[in-house]
Amino acid sequence: EVAVLRLGHRPGRDERMTTHVGLTARALGADRLVLANAGASRQDTVEDITDRFGGPFDVEVTEQPNRFLKDWSGSIAHLTMYGLPVQEVEGEIRAAHRSEPLLLVVGAEKVSFEVYERADWNVGVTNQPHSEVAGLAVFLDRLFEGRELDREWEDADRVVQPQPEGKRVVPAEEAAETADE
Ligand code: SAM
Repeated sequence: EVAVLRLGHRPGRDERMTTHVGLTARALGADRLVLANAGASRQDTVEDITDRFGGPFDVEVTEQPNRFLKDWSGSIAHLTMYGLPVQEVEGEIRAAHRSEPLLLVVGAEKVSFEVYERADWNVGVTNQPHSEVAGLAVFLDRLFEGRELDREWEDADRVVQPQPEGKRVVPAEEAAETADE
């Protein structure tokens, strides 16, 4: 299992970013998202996408992120520009993930030092400042070595059919029929 914990959501300012953390986590192979203090509306947006385009993917909200971190049984990777280069630690994290759940922690504003201490790895996707969405995307792609790109989705209502040009979205039953032909 891979869960993503999004810390430090600032109401108003971080709405879109928090939604994008959820959409990116889902699209690139994580199993669940835990939002700290983000309120129900972010949860609804991501759940709505999962309803339309498939899953499985769970979204939950915690009012006690410190407790959540303390109680997590499994390993923890915290994405931060101050961490060790992802290319140096990804092998070790992948190996740990084979035997236990992995929690990925991303921040919004300044992340408290306890998180750095609690994490098994503080991981930098470069040591340059950028964004939690970008860090998460690169990290997940490294963790799964690209296999997440071929994932099949369950219980989707709609399926996008890739086109060289234009947009085509079909009801899932129709997509299944085409796949059977
Ligand atoms: N300045 C804040 C701090 O000192 O913690 C970080 C703000 S940054 C906009 C928000 C989040 O993006 C960070 O908490 C981290 O999870 C992620 N992030 C930003 N740059 C990163 C990098 N180079 N590698 C990994 N994660 C990064």
